[in-house]
Amino acid sequence: MPNVSASNDTICAIATPPGRGGVGVIRISGPDAFELARRLSARAPEARRFFLADLRDDQGEVIDQALVLGFRGPASFTGEDVVELQTHGSPVVLEMLLERLVRLGARRARPGEFSERAYLNDRMDLAQAEAIADLIAAGTAQAARAASRSLEGVFSRLVDALHHDLVELRVWVEAALDFPDEDVDFLADGQVAARLDALRTRLDELIEQARAGRLLNDGLRVAIIGKPNAGKSSLLNAMTRRDSAIVTDIPGTTRDVLRETIELGGLPVTLADTAGLRDTEDRVEIEGVRRAEREMHAADLLFWVVDIEDEAAHLPPGLPPELPFIRINNKIDRVGREPRREGRSVDLSALEGRGLDLLEQAVREVLGLQSDGGGEFSARQRHIDALVKAREPLDRGARELAATGSGELLAEELRMAAEALAEITGRMSSDELLGHIFSSFCIGK
Ligand code: GDP
Repeated sequence: MPNVSASNDTICAIATPPGRGGVGVIRISGPDAFELARRLSARAPEARRFFLADLRDDQGEVIDQALVLGFRGPASFTGEDVVELQTHGSPVVLEMLLERLVRLGARRARPGEFSERAYLNDRMDLAQAEAIADLIAAGTAQAARAASRSLEGVFSRLVDALHHDLVELRVWVEAALDFPDEDVDFLADGQVAARLDALRTRLDELIEQARAGRLLNDGLRVAIIGKPNAGKSSLLNAMTRRDSAIVTDIPGTTRDVLRETIELGGLPVTLADTAGLRDTEDRVEIEGVRRAEREMHAADLLFWVVDIEDEAAHLPPGLPPELPFIRINNKIDRVGREPRREGRSVDLSALEGRGLDLLEQAVREVLGLQSDGGGEFSARQRHIDALVKAREPLDRGARELAATGSGELLAEELRMAAEALAEITGRMSSDELLGHIFSSFCIGK
């Protein structure tokens, strides 16, 4: 929870990546940040101004020249006093400066500690703090834009708004329970059921968006499956536009699992070409088939490649039932057909690389991605888990309300749902918000 502790130590760390570069940045945060910088540079930093100074060691020898930049809390990244030292990007210089700062009383920061302090000091919520890490790790421009939107608070605001409305509905239901003599029977007039339905719909939409957002972060794992010689390796090659898989017309060539990461409309996609799924006596190939099955179970999506002339094609048994797949009818060039898409089925030619755009469309449709390549914001599995956890009590509450017409159980289910949502931002305790809403709720007439 924010504001539970104010840190009284000052931390420091190298903020630029390891290695040599033009510029290296040391970040200092905490109550002594300005004083430590003054000791190093012989000049007191001023908020939001920078100056050039020689930074010296204990003997007064110059370590390096640096730009010294100060931020006074709370208007800083961490909410504390922060100083950034921009030196030359030499690991040796940076390390000497860190050692000097530690001798002066600072502590080396733990990983993520600056962001953690930003969260503890209420500069951002948990989802935003996570978005910083996701922005830094982003694999595509689209993923970076989505993380940046999460960092800016797009996702958090949607979660907060839903949380707020859940609590409001709960207050409403509790009012009906506590004041049964009121003129209006809150529960009977269908309003509560309608509002509950609307909230469930919004939650479902948010889950969908968060799923798309997670894919942007983690990338999509696609397993390419199908009989030997259907054209799996050719498809992988066509999509990566490189000869990374060995293509032959001898069935069973792809014995291991080949993996390639490509960008598909802004989404990082890892394609895994699996060994042909078939009964085989070859021991090496048996291992390949085993790996193919493992790959299939770890995938988000299957490309099921079928030779368009193969009348007897059927999905291999034992697929996870919720795992979506796209059927790819390959080798249209052999039968003189044009690329075509019908929902989750695409006719194409891997050999000629025709129809790949339709495959991309099908991927988008299956995943519910927007045409610009992905979700509105980035999200993590933790967020999806929390959203799904919030949906269960809402579903139960709706059933109970319909069955009993009473709000007794519903109020508790609403409380549980709001609590699950609050885990995402880590910002609000629902009681806090309850107090806020109660204070403006004119019930005591
Ligand atoms: P895999 O065993 O499923 O990986 O199949 P390959 O990609 O190794 O392809 C098997 C054979 O089919 C090779 O001779 C490919 O050149 C051929 N092939 C693959 N895709 C096409 C296609 O779209 N059109 C035609 N005419 N041949 C294809």
